[in-house]
Amino acid sequence: MLSKKMQTAINDQIKMEIESAYSYLSMAAYFEGENLSGCAHWMKIQYQEETGHAMKLFDYMNDRGGKVVLQAISQPESRYKSAREVFQAVINHEKSVSESIGKLYELAIKENDHATVVELQWFVKEQVEEEKTALKIFEQLKIVGDHGVSMMMLDRQLAARGS
Ligand code: MG
Repeated sequence: MLSKKMQTAINDQIKMEIESAYSYLSMAAYFEGENLSGCAHWMKIQYQEETGHAMKLFDYMNDRGGKVVLQAISQPESRYKSAREVFQAVINHEKSVSESIGKLYELAIKENDHATVVELQWFVKEQVEEEKTALKIFEQLKIVGDHGVSMMMLDRQLAARGS
């Protein structure tokens, strides 16, 4: 059984993952408006991934006899100036998610909750991937700038994201 404190912390993390999903869906909407359908596609996959993260914690909570209590989420940002600004926001956001997962992990260790420690190890590794991918695209955007043929090529590249 999960401690009350652990349950609260996991519920907070579920909220954060759902908020992440919602933010990325908002970014997808921005890209649709800019006719960058590859970037929009990439964000829609990202939205699905974050929903998957939330569901992984949702299922884990139930498997351990905890109670999921969903919280209100805030309205995501919808106005951006450029693709670069969007991916800078992704980097910042993923860093804060990594920090939050780190705190959850520390709590699980403190409580000697071994099952949660093991469960969260997947998330710790996943965050390394998330930060790496966002940074890579941001760096590519710095090279190509926000317009022109190179941007169209990068957009096409992002359109190829499968999962
Ligand atoms: Mg996530």
